[in-house]
Amino acid sequence: MEPSSACALVDSFGRRVSYLRLSVTDRCDLRCVYCMSERMTFMPRKDILSLDELARVAHAFIRVGVRKIRITGGEPLVRKDVIELFRDLSACLQDGRLQELTLTTNGTRLARYARDLALAGVRRVNISLDTLDPHRFAALTRGGSLATVLEGIDAAQDAGLAIKINTVALSGSTEEEIDDLIAFTHGRGMGLTLIETMPLGETGEDRLDQYLPLDRLRRQIEERWSLTDIGLRTGGGPARYARVAETGGTIGFITPMTHNFCENCNRVRVTAAGVLHTCLGQNDAADLKEAIRSSCDDGLLLETIAHALKHKPKGHDFVLDRASVPQIARHMSATGG
Ligand code: SAM
Ligand code: SF4
Repeated sequence: MEPSSACALVDSFGRRVSYLRLSVTDRCDLRCVYCMSERMTFMPRKDILSLDELARVAHAFIRVGVRKIRITGGEPLVRKDVIELFRDLSACLQDGRLQELTLTTNGTRLARYARDLALAGVRRVNISLDTLDPHRFAALTRGGSLATVLEGIDAAQDAGLAIKINTVALSGSTEEEIDDLIAFTHGRGMGLTLIETMPLGETGEDRLDQYLPLDRLRRQIEERWSLTDIGLRTGGGPARYARVAETGGTIGFITPMTHNFCENCNRVRVTAAGVLHTCLGQNDAADLKEAIRSSCDDGLLLETIAHALKHKPKGHDFVLDRASVPQIARHMSATGG
């Protein structure tokens, strides 16, 4: 079956899906306290899609109307030869089938890969950075080196990549460092996006203790900085942006916990094992690996995608409580952040 782009990627609530987050691995060289547990069980290697299979998934989504792809993980740059996937997809950028190819990274390997990414047509990267204090960085990532990430940021800027820094809002630490984070990011021409922690996967930490609602953080920011809302930007994206008068830079607020943004959702996620999740905060799943491995023809793959899209949930309903079992068992690192 060859679904037409008009029917395949519009869900039953009329939302057009044009954005794919494609995870290339669930593995990572860090262990952020809100994302993973210290000892993780990763997906069996036999379940992980090859780079050719990942490319096939990406091309199928492009065929039915996806125009923006973000490569993610786990840490996408720990995947061996991942640059080949970027090079493969860069052809779609050149002929206009794809409008944007980006990635989300923790930055540890950007010093090595930034130039290759830029050469493959990547223009923007999201880099996750929660603190500018080396000791706190080591604690939050359970052993990571802040200096390595800062070198990665330098390399990305040298390669001409635009950077948005993603910071997960954490009670205490982000409140203490928010002024430094604003000054650092805006001083270097980077955007800053703040994200509320979501109850995804067991981390061995108490999420209620970590959780910092962004309306509280925003009030603290406004005691010292002048913010003007510039509305919802980046078609269908979940962030609400404000401009900071003193710096001219922007702060994005992603509030899955305090303000659900699902009515504009334009995205789906595929894990490194080829599982399609049409909602980050629900347990819906469609197996694309089976569709890929059972046939060289893309018919079944396209049919599976179209069917899953018809059942895209209306939205998430995250609740944070002290329940011993997380609401969604899979980690953000497995779903693809
Ligand atoms: N390793 C890469 C990185 O850290 O940028 C890409 C994958 S990571 C899962 C993608 C994003 O998800 C990061 O910005 C991270 O901070 C965020 N994240 C991870 N777990 C989260 C959680 N439970 N709630 C909110 N954001 C989370
Ligand atoms: Fe790794 Fe990114 Fe998760 Fe941190 S947030 S553990 S860097 S996947």
